[in-house]
Amino acid sequence: MSYVDEVYQMVVDKNPAQPEFHQAVKEVLDSLRVVIEANEEEYRRDALLERLVTPERQILFRVPWVDDKGQVQVNNAFRVQFNSAIGPYKGGLRLHPSVNISIIKFLGFEQIFKNSLTGLPIGGGKGGSDFDPKGKSDREIMAFCQSFMTELFKYIGADTDVPAGDIGTGAREIGYLYGQYKRLTGLYEGVLTGKGLSYGGSLARTEATGYGVLYITEEILKCNGHDIKGKTVCVSGSGNVATYAIQKAQQLGAKVVTCSDSTGWIYDPEGIDVDLLREVKEVKRARLTEYAAARSSAEYHEKKNGEHGVWSVKCDIALPCATQNELDIEDAKMLVANGVIAVVEGANMPTTMDATEYLQSNKILFCPGKASNAGGVATSALEMSQNSERLSWTFEEVDAKLKNIMINIFHNLDDAAKKYGMEGNYVAGANIAGFLKVADAMKAQGIV
Ligand code: NDP
Repeated sequence: MSYVDEVYQMVVDKNPAQPEFHQAVKEVLDSLRVVIEANEEEYRRDALLERLVTPERQILFRVPWVDDKGQVQVNNAFRVQFNSAIGPYKGGLRLHPSVNISIIKFLGFEQIFKNSLTGLPIGGGKGGSDFDPKGKSDREIMAFCQSFMTELFKYIGADTDVPAGDIGTGAREIGYLYGQYKRLTGLYEGVLTGKGLSYGGSLARTEATGYGVLYITEEILKCNGHDIKGKTVCVSGSGNVATYAIQKAQQLGAKVVTCSDSTGWIYDPEGIDVDLLREVKEVKRARLTEYAAARSSAEYHEKKNGEHGVWSVKCDIALPCATQNELDIEDAKMLVANGVIAVVEGANMPTTMDATEYLQSNKILFCPGKASNAGGVATSALEMSQNSERLSWTFEEVDAKLKNIMINIFHNLDDAAKKYGMEGNYVAGANIAGFLKVADAMKAQGIV
């Protein structure tokens, strides 16, 4: 058995019932085969892959809190500090009922390579809880966040582990978490990113992931002889990533005709009205039915199992920006049949493995989330820099740095793919470019 297959088998055996984590490891290791085979003896001796797939530390804890009826609730919570070879652990906190250790480990593992690709000094980590913020009062959210931080603060710090937002963790939650950290430690430091502008947040952080997806999409298209201007785009999701991806796509001259949430989706042939979308989702925290009710050009479709949702709409560019495994093989076939040119992931691992292979074998330009959504964490790292020097940069400065980082990410992964004889395979390119830097740092730091 090859070293890659042995390590993958070890991951499956030692981490039973963690399918998302297995999937993420398989996808990365498979695409690293050429690099690993070229250095197999050394990597085996140093157990480099075994160390890479095993988190440095996993913290599992309970979060008790009292709801508005006086009932005590208990949630499971996690922080996985995966790899600190190139910097302090960095990665978001996901609050969603589906959260479990498998999902947090898949996200933390992916984060290692994503953070490395940004070129910034940040290691990989991820955390979260199976708490569902939907339908909770502000007081309940605060009670949960304070209890969550009362345990988590022991393990994080501006130079050790710097969590951020993710699904279900937006500006409100980060505010409550930060307040509790400060109260417990007495420290006013950059321990969390995604903070509000009045207490150390960075301009352009809110927009960064979605904007970054579009900066890299524009560069991929340009380098492959296409212009984003005039293209039709399908987006899934209507949260932070989706909203600002839609806004930037429109600023670059494309027309975005879809968005979705967990219960349904919108087709708006006139182009999504971002201001209305923000009003419905960010301000009212309502369903997309309200978007359709307020806009005559929009059609609302209830989500139905087995149907293709937004991926049934003909488009040039598809941007899955909702959640993991939301674009499957049948969706991929539909997109290809409808003439899609590029699929660029805004969410983490939204495309299933067979769908990815299908898109690649049909010569669709496919960019994995660990590269294309890295603008969020990159701007978080810029927030850390601003906190360290106690300065705030302008929106334009941060946005210009973000754009530059996204363009560099594309060229790094494109060059890596070419160097290892896999031109156009951006999945392999991203994994290889991300891996090489981390592997080099791990080697230099000895067996730790
Ligand atoms: P949000 O919570 O802001 O939005 C998530 C969106 O996806 C919501 O519109 C939600 O609908 C929708 N959604 C969730 N589950 C499903 C589903 N099963 N089917 C269809 N729609 C669904 O999260 P973000 O926008 O922040 O994150 C989206 C993705 O991007 C995640 O994979 C996240 O890990 C990734 N990401 C986020 C970054 C960031 O900076 N925010 C950075 C890098 C990656 P509803 O409103 O009904 O809940």
